[in-house]
Amino acid sequence: MRPYRKLLAALIASVILLLNFNVLCADGTGAAGASGASDGDAARIEQVHAFVERLYTNMMGRPSDPQGLDFWTNQLTSGNMSGNEVANKFYYSSEFKRIGGGMDDSAFVETMYKTLLGRSSDVQGLNHWVNQITSGNKTRDQIYRNFLASSEWKGICSSNGITPEYITIEGYINRLYVTVFGRDSDTNGRDFWSSKMRSGEYDAITTAHKFFFGSEYLGKNKSDSDYIKDLYMTLMGRDYDDAGLSFWLNKLSSGSTRLSVFNQFATSPEFTNICSIYGVTRGDAIPDRAQYTICIDPGHSAVMPVGNCPLGPGSSIGKPADAVGTHGSASGLMEYQLTLNISMQLKDELEARGYNVIMTRTDSSSAYDLVYRAQVANEGADLMVRIHADGLSDTSVTGCSAIIITPNNPWNPQTYSSSRSLADNLLSSYIAATGIRNRGVVEEDTMAGNNWSTVPCVLFELGFMTNRNEDLKMADPTFQVSMVSGLADGIDAYYGF
Ligand SMILES: [Zn+2]
Repeated sequence: MRPYRKLLAALIASVILLLNFNVLCADGTGAAGASGASDGDAARIEQVHAFVERLYTNMMGRPSDPQGLDFWTNQLTSGNMSGNEVANKFYYSSEFKRIGGGMDDSAFVETMYKTLLGRSSDVQGLNHWVNQITSGNKTRDQIYRNFLASSEWKGICSSNGITPEYITIEGYINRLYVTVFGRDSDTNGRDFWSSKMRSGEYDAITTAHKFFFGSEYLGKNKSDSDYIKDLYMTLMGRDYDDAGLSFWLNKLSSGSTRLSVFNQFATSPEFTNICSIYGVTRGDAIPDRAQYTICIDPGHSAVMPVGNCPLGPGSSIGKPADAVGTHGSASGLMEYQLTLNISMQLKDELEARGYNVIMTRTDSSSAYDLVYRAQVANEGADLMVRIHADGLSDTSVTGCSAIIITPNNPWNPQTYSSSRSLADNLLSSYIAATGIRNRGVVEEDTMAGNNWSTVPCVLFELGFMTNRNEDLKMADPTFQVSMVSGLADGIDAYYGF
């Protein structure tokens, strides 16, 4: 088929489906139903007719029209749509929205029983579900999903020869629409997500993450409690239990992020099992900034430590334990003032992005030797960024650079490749944000602070304070915002965010 004919055919098919759906919702006359169920299976068609009729009578409050009845029956018997998909078309239709909206809670629950379980409620069941709604434990949508997840509904589908739910990539996507967005999937959306999964670009966790952390779900402003309930239904395939709900709520209120809770659900054996049922690749937890601690070391201080420190652990070579640093030729700032200012802003920015941050100093009134600074990072951080500014007697020199150890560093060579990657990422993000000239990565083993660090470590030179123009730029609060976001972007890029 030539591409435009293919497109035309797809267009016609979707218009027919749309017509059927719109007609069903609008005036019930129904478009021409396709026939195609196997002959000689009249009994089964009768059963499916009754199944569809229940949807009409209970949700639309009216009998089916012949064309509509044929259309939906054919969708189900041909295997074109699953029981869940057809139920969704009715449940999420504007017609049921209107009719259901006029029902009190007890009539709503009764409708779920009659439609989906093909029977009247029992007193206990009815009271249970109505209670769930009036106590605010569950929304009506959540109760609908409970019914779809019940073995009774699945049994009814199977006994009518209807697949309750397709265990395919599309089935997985449809399920996300219902359990996360609380609505039926649309064709474009379903095609978009399933093609991403089919090509292997997105695994099941990535796709679920994009549903939970995309604008549609975030726009619903769900409470923590509803968020947890949605995670249970989506990633565990079951209703929450009270003990579980309060366990997770407690985690959130004691500082866990929604992402970290999502990751724990997504890597559970239950979700792994759901993925294997649907035949989709589960994938790994979503990287979470909260699992990383960044040590920021604002270079220098107003007070100098006395004497030397070893160049590296166990080294007999001494280096001054700290140095005064340079100063701004035009701004009049001391390097330790600029580095502390930028470092404190970087701390705020990184924390806003979700990282943990520790500082080697937050004031300039004490002496902080280089070994001490490295030890702060070694004891509590995943990496260290040392913030400095440059100075030279040649005042024309400008640019930023990143100083790291060499691959043959005598003390911590194991951190070399990570330090190199961090340096490259910091430089490229920083120059993109600030336009400051890139002087590149310098590898040397003469910096005590770098040599003592057992975690990846970069001494970052922001620019030249001895160049009038660059000094004034770096002292400008507006320009500093770009400097800080460039550095934070570099750390994000290092971790792959
Ligand atoms: Zn410095």
